[in-house]
Amino acid sequence: MSYVTHLEAAIDGTILPARTLQTVHAGRPLWVRYDLDAIARSIDRDALVHREPTLWRYRELLPVDDDDCIVSLGEGMSPLLRCERLGTAIGLENLFIKDESQLPTGSFKARGLCMAVSMAKQLGATRTAIPTAGNAGGALAAYAARASMECFVFMPAFTPEVNKYEAAVYGARVFLVDGLIHDCGAIVNQGTEKLGWYDMSTLKEPYRIEGKKTMGLELAEQMQWSLPDVVFYPTGGGTGLIGMWKAFAELEQIGWIEKNRRPRMFACQSTGCAPLAEAFERGERFVGSLDNPFTKAAGLLVPKALGDFMILDAVRESGGRAVAADEQRLVAWMEMATRLEGIALCPEAAACLGALERSLQEGWISKNETVVVYNTGAVQKYVEVIKRHFPRVERGKIDWEALVSPPSRHGTA
Ligand SMILES: *Cc1c(COP(=O)(O)O)cnc(C)c1O
Repeated sequence: MSYVTHLEAAIDGTILPARTLQTVHAGRPLWVRYDLDAIARSIDRDALVHREPTLWRYRELLPVDDDDCIVSLGEGMSPLLRCERLGTAIGLENLFIKDESQLPTGSFKARGLCMAVSMAKQLGATRTAIPTAGNAGGALAAYAARASMECFVFMPAFTPEVNKYEAAVYGARVFLVDGLIHDCGAIVNQGTEKLGWYDMSTLKEPYRIEGKKTMGLELAEQMQWSLPDVVFYPTGGGTGLIGMWKAFAELEQIGWIEKNRRPRMFACQSTGCAPLAEAFERGERFVGSLDNPFTKAAGLLVPKALGDFMILDAVRESGGRAVAADEQRLVAWMEMATRLEGIALCPEAAACLGALERSLQEGWISKNETVVVYNTGAVQKYVEVIKRHFPRVERGKIDWEALVSPPSRHGTA
């Protein structure tokens, strides 16, 4: 048995039973709650070193009751890379990138969906469905296949090509929708009654947060149980940021990290779609509506996150901010990170570099603070962006003379 005691509605604290299918309460997400005192008594953080380097090493802080229900592709323990040159270029002395692009299916979405699918298996679901702006569809398709479940994926018609086909490769039924992710969500909602599938929408099932939480647990362990001063996280639906903030709170409660040393959380968006940054500026807890949102950072194209208040609460409680980076400069930041560090940032993570620059200028962070940026996904998935902005593939006869003094390494930014 896991240490889960109950579920709790995030909007009003209503307590709901665990171990039965629950989705939302009053249309808003649920927290998974644990007996943290019992966890603190049962395991010491030093015991972790003997465990496998996957996110399942944090077993006690995860919701799966029965080991037989664990559906895994070996996810977790992404590298935490020191970035001296990139830091210097931006004006920071202690910059790190946590590179989630190496997870199964090439994004941190694997963390959430391995947990959601494991819990779906525990709860007896055999058919799953998800609306997605990109990477979540591929990740669910992979874990559903691993668990022998049916999978239906609904995505906006202009989602990156690779995201469309990766879900299909894993055997999912993939549907393109004229609209944005919330239109896809409405279709999944309709289908719940007709087809009886388990709705895996962001924050409509409670367990994805628990998987994403491991980004924070891992960070703490990799930093010897201290935490950075600031975390910059590209935020769309918000499960990653919400999950990490929950991880830090739980670590504090079980005594694995010192009290009052949690990082300030910066939710990073693009000016093309910045509902959270706008709500933050207005001092509000819920996002308003946007006109024609669009960004090439597909994972950030979430105009109305179900957990908006959870994200904004975490950001404010932490002393952080929600910041929008200039959509027009995303490619320039991607180029800068590959050139200086050999780390290929997805456009979502590039927004973090923009937010970093701005935060330094405005004095929201200072140059000697330790900063961790999450690279949430693999750039290889963004073929459209790569083809358009990095046109460096050459063909034809080799011109040896020209190769002696090559042009600048990258194309237009
Ligand atoms: C989904 C996604 C995001 C947004 O993550 P949330 O935790 O839902 O806010 C950021 N980057 C990439 C690459 C994504 O796929």
